[in-house]
Amino acid sequence: MAERTTLDTKLRTIVAKAATPLAKKDLVTVRDLLEFYPRTYLDPTRPTDFSTLGEGEPVVVLADVQHAVTRKMRQRRGSMLIATIQDGLGNALELTFFSAWGHEKALVPGRRILVSGTVSHYGGKRQLTHPEYEVLGTGAKATSTFGEGPIPVYSQVPAMTSMKVAAAVDLVLHALAEVPDPIPVAVRAKHGLPPLSNALTMVHQPRSTQEQRKARWRMKFQEAFVLQAALAVMRQSSDAVPAVPRPAVPGALADQFRERLPFELTQGQEQVLAEITGDLERTLPMHRLLQGEVGSGKTVVALLAMLNVIDSGGQAALLAPTEVLAVQHHRSMTAMLGPLAEAGMLGGSTDGTRVALLTGSQSAAERRRNLLMAASGEAGIVVGTHALIQEHVQFAELGLVVVDEQHRFGVEQRDALRAKVDGASPHTLVMTATPIPRTVAMTVFGDMETSTMTEVPSGRQPITTHVVRGDQSTWVQRTWERVAEEVAKGGQVYVVCPRIGQDDDPDLPGGTDIGPGGPITFEGNDAEEDSAPLHGVLQVERALRELEVTADLRIGILHGRQAADDKEATMRAFGSGEIDVLVATTVIEVGVDVPNATQMVIIDADRFGISQLHQLRGRIGRGTKPGLCLLMSQAAESQSLERLDAVASTTDGFELARLDLAQRREGDVLGATQSGARSSLRLLRLTRDEDLITLAHEDAWQVVGEDPDLTNHPELRAELDRIDAERVAFLERG
Ligand code: ADP
Ligand code: MG
Repeated sequence: MAERTTLDTKLRTIVAKAATPLAKKDLVTVRDLLEFYPRTYLDPTRPTDFSTLGEGEPVVVLADVQHAVTRKMRQRRGSMLIATIQDGLGNALELTFFSAWGHEKALVPGRRILVSGTVSHYGGKRQLTHPEYEVLGTGAKATSTFGEGPIPVYSQVPAMTSMKVAAAVDLVLHALAEVPDPIPVAVRAKHGLPPLSNALTMVHQPRSTQEQRKARWRMKFQEAFVLQAALAVMRQSSDAVPAVPRPAVPGALADQFRERLPFELTQGQEQVLAEITGDLERTLPMHRLLQGEVGSGKTVVALLAMLNVIDSGGQAALLAPTEVLAVQHHRSMTAMLGPLAEAGMLGGSTDGTRVALLTGSQSAAERRRNLLMAASGEAGIVVGTHALIQEHVQFAELGLVVVDEQHRFGVEQRDALRAKVDGASPHTLVMTATPIPRTVAMTVFGDMETSTMTEVPSGRQPITTHVVRGDQSTWVQRTWERVAEEVAKGGQVYVVCPRIGQDDDPDLPGGTDIGPGGPITFEGNDAEEDSAPLHGVLQVERALRELEVTADLRIGILHGRQAADDKEATMRAFGSGEIDVLVATTVIEVGVDVPNATQMVIIDADRFGISQLHQLRGRIGRGTKPGLCLLMSQAAESQSLERLDAVASTTDGFELARLDLAQRREGDVLGATQSGARSSLRLLRLTRDEDLITLAHEDAWQVVGEDPDLTNHPELRAELDRIDAERVAFLERG
């Protein structure tokens, strides 16, 4: 007896020759093919409107045969057949066959047929040459397996018509035994979901539109459910290792630090802090995502949480996505803590602690000193970039991991630090300034509790944003005048460029000569197309030095190719006001905090995403003076301009994040390390399926909560293992 057909059975054992073209489309197993859902469905009662068919396009149409004529061919023996089909709307299409044989009997006037071919024009008429077709209907003349229900149309598979794909699907569905269903019976019953086997048939061979929709909803729900179950299981397993409780100690470091703060915490900060301290008291490890609007003051909250942990005997690690940011955090925390960060030093507080810094570019001696502080427990706080902490650092008693600006890190990396703590899980706080729409939060951070801070400290100055047409010389001129005026008033300015560029970039017309008429349209360059090369930091710096209004300003540059020392020196100089204008790449995108910076010009702003622009402009308006952000762009496409207008019209990061999500693809949203999730998402759309994801989230967490090992749900367990294996394979392939 042949082996039972399962979802993992190879297609070639079932569909014979069709397996080759299907494999070209990465459809190798039964599962692959059955998850290759129809692109759309045709209503068998309604012919296709031919007027919409474009020339050269592969089409699938439903139509009635009007007449067919057979002609003897002059050149060679045999006869050709031309059938005319009509769509009932007055449009006709000719089907040409260079051999009438077999077609005369099938293409009888009045019959309804399903035709697949490529549209061409011949003698002023639309035609399909040698199309493939099936005769619909139930009579003896019918050649189609399609019933009365909606007819599936599949996306293009090279060398296969949609009908051939449907035929392969039909073979597979017939061969397939009952398939295990990862959605538990109770959950299915709750939502009235058909079992998986039925749903697969209903999606590919629906008897009605209603049935098709119901099945599709189920398959989509399954995607969300399995994903949520995976997150729930992940969370369960990390919860299985308890954390050391770190309750607040009244009057100790955290309280002393609050006394020192020159401002009151906002209500939002207080609330989030209360949530965090609540978590820290428990043996259940904290997994909290703090989403805070740009400038809402997340760092202070994190610092208070870290001090809390230090007060009850632990250490805290702060991971920053870039070295610039790590250095800045180290500097600002040390400054904010003052004597509290000078334990053991002359004049330092007796209760105090130390803040260690670990970056890739430290000298060996410096590094050793900092590593020692971490390992001995002398440093209560260790700030570093992620990779370093991941590989070498040892802690005396790591109790809390704070990850700043999470969106730069992959999800898997989040867990890397857990390994640093013997026998206990550290508490984890992840902070992100890119507001994450609910569905993404649930999908990417579905295993974390979420805190949100939308409020920015009162007295914070508003940021005004304008779009500047980079192709209009007067606007551009005015922009640089504004920069000079800002500096004259005592402010500082960021100029952000999409790339570093080269001093003598041979690709740039005019090389380093980027004065009037050059690629940088400081003087306006109305003839420039939007294919103009991107403006680099180095060119812009040079141009600003040459431009009359800005020539006298103190200009600095910052980008990723600089040595760490240079970067640090530049940031320090900008922070202390020794640089007026900082021309930089997006290295300043996250977290950089220089309150006196009041203006930002973003060059080629259309090259940045919505959230990124919002993030960038969050660098200004951090002090007591209002911020001005100018988005310069030469883009002509309305979509780019709309995005820029959206950024200019609101400072609500959450609204912009929703817009951003709507414009991006799921894969980009989920990121590379979510490849497992991505490859299992066929129907689910994070932008449109919020309600469904919420339902799936609730159900999956309940199922896993009641049965953490999924002992009673072996089908779900197997599905999770399969996806895990797929993801591992994907990551290994690179
Ligand atoms: P973000 O949430 O974007 O990381 P930061 O933590 O960098 O924001 O804080 C931005 C600035 O606001 C810092 O200079 C910080 O000292 C200041 N700040 C934080 N909390 C308050 C507050 N409650 N009142 C006034 N200023 C605050
Ligand atoms: Mg920050």
